[in-house]
Amino acid sequence: MTAVDSDEHRLMRETVRKFATDDVAPNAAEIDRQERFPRESWERAAELGLLGIRAPEQFGGSGLGLAETCIVAEELAAVCMATSVTVLHQSNLVVDRIVDHGTVEQQAKFLPGLCDGSVIGCLAITEPEAGSDAMSMRTRASRVDGGWVLNGTKTFITNGPVADLALVYAKTGPADGREISLFAVDTTSPGFQRGRKLEKLGWRGSPTGELILTDCFVADDAVLGEVGLGVQVLRGGLASERVVMGAQGVGLAAGALREAARYATERHQFGRRIGDFQLIQAKLADIYVGVELGRALVARTSSAIDAGDTREMTIQASACKLHGSELAMNATIEALQIFGGYGYTTEFPIERYLRDAKIMQIGGGTSEIQRVIIGKELLR
Ligand SMILES: Cc1cc2nc3c(=O)[nH]c(=O)nc-3n(C[C@H](O)[C@H](O)[C@H](O)COP(=O)(O)OP(=O)(O)OC[C@H]3O[C@@H](n4cnc5c(N)ncnc54)[C@H](O)[C@@H]3O)c2cc1C
Repeated sequence: MTAVDSDEHRLMRETVRKFATDDVAPNAAEIDRQERFPRESWERAAELGLLGIRAPEQFGGSGLGLAETCIVAEELAAVCMATSVTVLHQSNLVVDRIVDHGTVEQQAKFLPGLCDGSVIGCLAITEPEAGSDAMSMRTRASRVDGGWVLNGTKTFITNGPVADLALVYAKTGPADGREISLFAVDTTSPGFQRGRKLEKLGWRGSPTGELILTDCFVADDAVLGEVGLGVQVLRGGLASERVVMGAQGVGLAAGALREAARYATERHQFGRRIGDFQLIQAKLADIYVGVELGRALVARTSSAIDAGDTREMTIQASACKLHGSELAMNATIEALQIFGGYGYTTEFPIERYLRDAKIMQIGGGTSEIQRVIIGKELLR
């Protein structure tokens, strides 16, 4: 299927592509229009083991790695970005934090439900006044007998409006310090409240909302990783999120390329297929090169991380995210151009691809922030 795939990865890609084509693609336009959670695909994704890709098999996971996670992210994004985001938020952001930082008891408690899809998770970093500057978060966890009490507001939280379990970062040291911790919070706990569900330009099938914590008690065993050392948890999580988002950007662009190439062979003007015009071929060629480069970068970075080589993780993860995001935006603009006026209507899926691309340059750390990280790493 692609030059960078091993035999196992080729098989994995074929399986996920079949799921994407048969089950996800037919619902993509509807969940976007209705802004509804992709429930049917969610259940099938659970059956295929895609909600806990890196989780150990003993806890219901697939026991695979980041490289396989990226293949899933890419193939789902190629047909429906909202489904890719929903599934990968669970598998990559929620499950992986528990796999990487949970005790065996915490893994046994949380992973089976997350992997079989009966529990929907979300991960909450961002706050109304703390976006790119995540360390300025104000959500606070105060020590009490037997646990912690959380107070604060999170916003822009993917799956927040439907989540059963929220992983919430909060300050456990001075308000202006970097001491944070990660807490697993049952969303039915007293003091946990869902705020607004946000209406969005794209990713409309992936619900996004606010979470409000008011004197919300969690027991000691809700802390994932060491108290106060949440920055390390956050950094590792952001790195793998960025590689996966890089894969999603590649997938979105690859999907837009498929749609545009098909249309270029069907649409005729001046007595010829528009694909026969070299200016159209140039657009397709540029997208193709971006997809191939992005896929290779993601494969290289994810394989290195899987092999335990984290020396270049920070810069490479940001490079994956930046390349994938910019590629997705540019590719969907050019792909829509190939559709002419029809591309601007909802009769073809390409306008959805374009709307879904914009947030890639914002979520998970903006393109500006990725450039800042890459620049800093180069000058270290
Ligand atoms: C659909 C969606 C889903 C999301 N899902 C989640 C989620 O599940 N969990 C979660 O915690 N968060 C989530 N987010 C939040 C997302 O990570 C933030 O939106 C993002 O980090 C940017 O923060 P901000 O929106 O507050 O923008 P700001 O930080 O206010 O940035 C505004 C502008 O200033 C620029 N800027 C800021 N600082 C600098 C700088 N130092 N140098 C140059 N430019 C700078 C930015 O690049 C941007 O262009 C989601 C957001 C969206 C829209």
